[in-house]
Amino acid sequence: MKHILSFVLIVSFVVSGLAQKGGFVEMKQLQGPQNPRLGFIIHGGAGVIRKGSLSPEREKEYRDKLEEAVLAGYKALQAGKSSLDAVEVAIKILEDSPLFNAGKGAVFTNDGKNELDASIMDGKTQAAGAVAGVHRVKNPITLARAVMEKSEHVMMIGEGAEKFAAEQKIELVDPKYFFTQPRWDALQRILKQEKETEEKKRQGDAEKQGHWEKRQETRDRRQETNTRSEILHSEEPENKFGTVGAVALDKDGNLAAGTSTGGMTNKKFGRVGDAPIIGAGTYANNNTCAVSATGWGEFFIRLSVARDIASLMEYRALPIQQAADLVIKQKLQNLGGDGGVIAMDKFGNIGISFNSEGMYRAYINAEGKPVVEIYGK
Ligand code: ASP
Repeated sequence: MKHILSFVLIVSFVVSGLAQKGGFVEMKQLQGPQNPRLGFIIHGGAGVIRKGSLSPEREKEYRDKLEEAVLAGYKALQAGKSSLDAVEVAIKILEDSPLFNAGKGAVFTNDGKNELDASIMDGKTQAAGAVAGVHRVKNPITLARAVMEKSEHVMMIGEGAEKFAAEQKIELVDPKYFFTQPRWDALQRILKQEKETEEKKRQGDAEKQGHWEKRQETRDRRQETNTRSEILHSEEPENKFGTVGAVALDKDGNLAAGTSTGGMTNKKFGRVGDAPIIGAGTYANNNTCAVSATGWGEFFIRLSVARDIASLMEYRALPIQQAADLVIKQKLQNLGGDGGVIAMDKFGNIGISFNSEGMYRAYINAEGKPVVEIYGK
C-alpha cells in the first residue's frame, strides 16, 4: 500500500511538472479526439522569399494560386472525398501552374531537360507510390498514385514509369510542354556562374606548387560550396525551391501526403531528390501524422525528415509543431540544410516549420477559412 501511494505521488509530481512546462497545457487548446476536423495544408516551396522581393502583382499571382489549390482540396474533403483525392486535386493545380517548380514550371537539369519526381502516401494503409526522373508525364502526382494503387510496386523511374503511365492512360505530353523561359534563364545564369568558378580554378591550378596545392584545393572546394549555396540563396524568384506538396485529413480520420517537384536547377542528370523518397519528402501514417517537405533534397534524404517527424510523435509523444521544429530548426539546421515541411496530425492539428526565409504555404484554419502565407514571421 505504501509503495502504491508513493508511486502515485511520483507520477502526479512528474505529470504536474510536465503540465507546468507547457506540454499538457498546450495540448488542451489543440484539436483532440472529441473535436477532430477536416484538415488541409499545401506548400509551394521554400527559399529566400523576403518581404519586398516579389512585386505586388507577382505576390498576388502566388497568393491566388495557393488559395485556389487549398480551397479545391478542402472542397473535395467537404464533399466527402478521401484525403488522397484532396492531395491529388490540389497538387495537380499547382503542377499545372508555371509559378511552381513542379509539372509545368519545373526547373532544368544541368543538360537542359526537365526531370520530374513525385510521391504520395496513404496514412490508413501505409501504401505509397512514387515516380522519379519522368520527362513526359503532365501530372506526376497522378502517376505516383497509379503506381500505388494499380501496380505492385512503390517506385518507378524514367522510361519504365512512362510506359506504365501510357498503360494506365495517364496523360503524356511532349517534353517541350515543360519549357518556361524564366526557368531556362535561371539555368543559363547558373551555368555561367559555374564556368566562371571553373575558370578561376584553372588559373589557380597553374599556380599550384608543393604544399600550396593543398591549401588551394581547400579554397577551391570552399568556393564550389559557396557557388552552390549562393544559387540556393539567390533572390532570383526562379532559384527558389518551389516544390509543391499537400497533407490532408478526411472525414474518416484518414491522413494522406503528397509531394511533386522538378528537383533543383542544374541538378546532374539522373539526380533524384527527397520528394519521391518515402520517409524523406513524403510520409503519412494515421497513428502519427502526414508530412510533405521542400528544400535541399540531399539533406532531407540524409535525415529521413518526414519519417523522423512521425517518429518523434510515435516514440516521444511530441506534439506535431514541436516535432516539426525539432527536425527542421535543429537537425536540418545543424547539418547545413535548408527548407521546410507542412505536417498534420490525426486530429487536424497543423505543424508548419521552415528554416529558410520564407515558404509558400496555405491552410484551412479552425474556422474553415483559407489562410495564405509566404514570409517568415
Ligand atoms: N526538395 C526538392 C529536391 O531536392 C527541391 C525543392 O523542394 O524545391 O528535389
